[in-house]
Amino acid sequence: MIRTVKLKLMLTEEQKGSLLRTMEAYTRAFDHAARWGFEHQKCGKLELQYAIYYEMRRAVPELGAGLIQSAKDTACEALRQCKMRTVPRRKPRSAVRFPWKEAKVYFGSGTISIYSVDGRIHAPVVLYEHLKKYAEWRCKLSVLIWDRIGRQFYISVVVENKTPIEPVKGNVLGIDRGLNNVAVCSNNMFFDSSRINATRGRYAKNKQELQAKGTRSAIRRLRKQSGRERRFMTCENHRISKIIANTEFAVFALEDLAGINKCRWLDRRTKGKLRSWAYHQLENFLRYKAEGLGKAVVHVDPTCTSQWCSRCGWIDKKSRKGSIFHCVRCGFQLNADLNASRIIARLGMSEASRLPIYQPHAAGDEGDVSGVRSKCLSLAASLRSPRVVDTPSLNREQGSLRAGQGCDSSLEDPPDQQKIFNIRPY
Ligand SMILES: [Zn+2]
Repeated sequence: MIRTVKLKLMLTEEQKGSLLRTMEAYTRAFDHAARWGFEHQKCGKLELQYAIYYEMRRAVPELGAGLIQSAKDTACEALRQCKMRTVPRRKPRSAVRFPWKEAKVYFGSGTISIYSVDGRIHAPVVLYEHLKKYAEWRCKLSVLIWDRIGRQFYISVVVENKTPIEPVKGNVLGIDRGLNNVAVCSNNMFFDSSRINATRGRYAKNKQELQAKGTRSAIRRLRKQSGRERRFMTCENHRISKIIANTEFAVFALEDLAGINKCRWLDRRTKGKLRSWAYHQLENFLRYKAEGLGKAVVHVDPTCTSQWCSRCGWIDKKSRKGSIFHCVRCGFQLNADLNASRIIARLGMSEASRLPIYQPHAAGDEGDVSGVRSKCLSLAASLRSPRVVDTPSLNREQGSLRAGQGCDSSLEDPPDQQKIFNIRPY
């Protein structure tokens, strides 16, 4: 199990100066490696190690061997990321990656011993009670961050615990994530997003007004408010995922929404909403919280989950009317998101049975966008005035899009044609 712990460093002005100089020296080393890599079109870590290690030591003599290696490695990664088309650049005081030997955090005593160009710095860190449990864990690496506005140093420490956690046994909980409801669980638990939308809307309006004003005090206010909306959403996601993870269920089934932001079929308004939708963060939080409790998160295919009757298994587009699901075959009526979450739970059961073999994520076929498209369309429908650009129903045309990427029964038949999937009614 791996966790990242962010700690605030309690430093004197002199120590801050030393660390800032260390950051600047690191950037010089990075630039040196990046330039050489670009000129010679090489980005292998070992290649660069043999070619320019001593050269880098001479170019930045104040920096130690550990950080020279780290700067070279980050330069290689940056070169690989831009496919060696340009020379990667970084700001002089960007975050610095420290190997574990160069920045040791002692969780027991709440102190840190960190390398700097002026010698090692020993300083206290702000350590809350709940973080003391990491004293037994092994530090892997740390990232030093300079908060320019608050003039503070923070360190993100990656810690690892190799003791396996006993898996918990229990049922599957289906979770449907959406725009109107952040999450709806198959055990009738709703997380409404009206409060979230209201708060975020208020922040956005504030920001817009201050930006329009443009005076010095407005800029000061903007700077003070920056990141507040993001922090609020993070807090909400932590809160929701904690409640879900602590339910009696052992497996949590979620739709696989990889690539939903890249959907081209939606209009600008819906796309904008999707972009600010923090669905992925909720999933990440739930995953790590569940992992700590010996529970698992599985992915299911999002295709037709909103059109599928959780009682008789009939799939029909006409069954979904806004936020209400009304089955055209058996007349079953339910909140649309709750119905979808029950279907997700059902699909999650088959995924969960495969867990020991295909851990951690069994259904993932990220190249297949059909399911994501289906989810996108259902999200657009859930918004009040949906204007979906180009809305041909899932048909042969899209079927050919994903030909060769594995197929399901919907590939052969247009979904307008009603059909019953092999699903046992609840
Ligand atoms: Zn039905």
